[in-house]
Amino acid sequence: MPSSQSCKVLIVGSGPAGYTAGVYAARAMLEPVLVQGIQPGGQLTITTEVENWPGDTEVQGPDLMQRMEAHAKAVGCEVVNDIITAINFDQRPFVAQSDSGTEYIADAIILATGARAKWLGLASEEKFKGFGVSACATCDGFFYRGQEIVVVGGGNTAVEEALFLTNFASKVTLVHRRDSLRAEKILQDRLFKNPKVSTLWHHEIIEVYGTENPLGVEGVKVRHTETGAVQSLPCKGFFVAIGHAPANELVKDVLPTHMGGYVVTKPDSTATTIPGVFAAGDLTDHIYRQAVTSAGMGCMAALETERFLAEHSGS
Ligand code: FAD
Ligand code: NAP
Repeated sequence: MPSSQSCKVLIVGSGPAGYTAGVYAARAMLEPVLVQGIQPGGQLTITTEVENWPGDTEVQGPDLMQRMEAHAKAVGCEVVNDIITAINFDQRPFVAQSDSGTEYIADAIILATGARAKWLGLASEEKFKGFGVSACATCDGFFYRGQEIVVVGGGNTAVEEALFLTNFASKVTLVHRRDSLRAEKILQDRLFKNPKVSTLWHHEIIEVYGTENPLGVEGVKVRHTETGAVQSLPCKGFFVAIGHAPANELVKDVLPTHMGGYVVTKPDSTATTIPGVFAAGDLTDHIYRQAVTSAGMGCMAALETERFLAEHSGS
């Protein structure tokens, strides 16, 4: 049954940016409504140890996000399990449609839809997704006990995924297109010391191959970026960890974006080009993309929303 819900501020997204905005907006008595989206808790729910969240030497990503949700709820943020499908920004109050059929009517909106894994874009990658091809080691690593695994990428995610997968795999090969990683040095040290991991530099994935019936990965073909030489790497699991792209579907036609789709905000601010619409976290951040920076921007967005609503009350 379609229904409608009015609020002063609608927060779209339940990662560190969304929940932090929820805490600050609730404590400012704005009675925020936060819509969680398809991934309640955001990206940190698909990782294990987080070692750079201040105050926790080590914390499991899903635990941290549960605590953030509980905190937001405890101070009065209404957390709703729903997905926003479209927003009409033409006039205030803004009207957001959702998957459940509920229409959210909001005086201000904080967008905190974060980012999602990028894929290589190969037809064979698409074919074997869910049948040996994955972008989430914590979700799928368990299926590859005692098997060989290939991971592609050279950032923090690729190195963390490769290390995590050594808990299950007999061997993990990290394939990277250059000869140096952009991952943090502490993670690189762990990677190079791990006897189950080998690295293949200067190679790109050109094909995933496998069996048809049942559908399953048997290996990947890789090509040397300089010589062009092609070789096969047998594996049962292939993990893609080549970065993340902003989840900008709701706004890409109405808000300016840059650097591959990140929403542009005013300098030193979370304000977008639409008055009353603020954007925080990985959706706007092509540089840092950390939990703590996302949380910081969530705080900024709530404080700026509070100021905006105070200045525009009755308008
Ligand atoms: P996200 O966490 O991406 O959350 C986005 C939210 O938006 C989700 O809840 C989603 O459901 C919601 N959403 C999207 N679309 C809609 C919609 N249409 N309607 C409603 N809701 C919607 N950072 C660190 O600081 N330390 C780490 O150790 C670390 N480890 C990581 C490990 C992995 C495997 C990955 C992928 C990332 C890691 N990061 C880490 C980065 C960190 O997770 C992100 O910087 C952070 O989660 C971004 O927070 P966010 O709130 O902007 O968005
Ligand atoms: P990233 O830092 O953008 O790195 C992406 C990697 O994939 C790069 O090494 C890149 O190669 C490679 N790559 C990109 N496109 C490719 C393609 N088409 N084919 C082959 N390789 C490709 O992404 P990320 O590792 O997912 O990290 C995203 C953000 O989350 C970062 O800000 C990161 O710090 C953060 N994060 C933090 C932690 C942590 O703090 N522990 C953990 C995970 C993620 P090049 O190097 O050649 O460009």
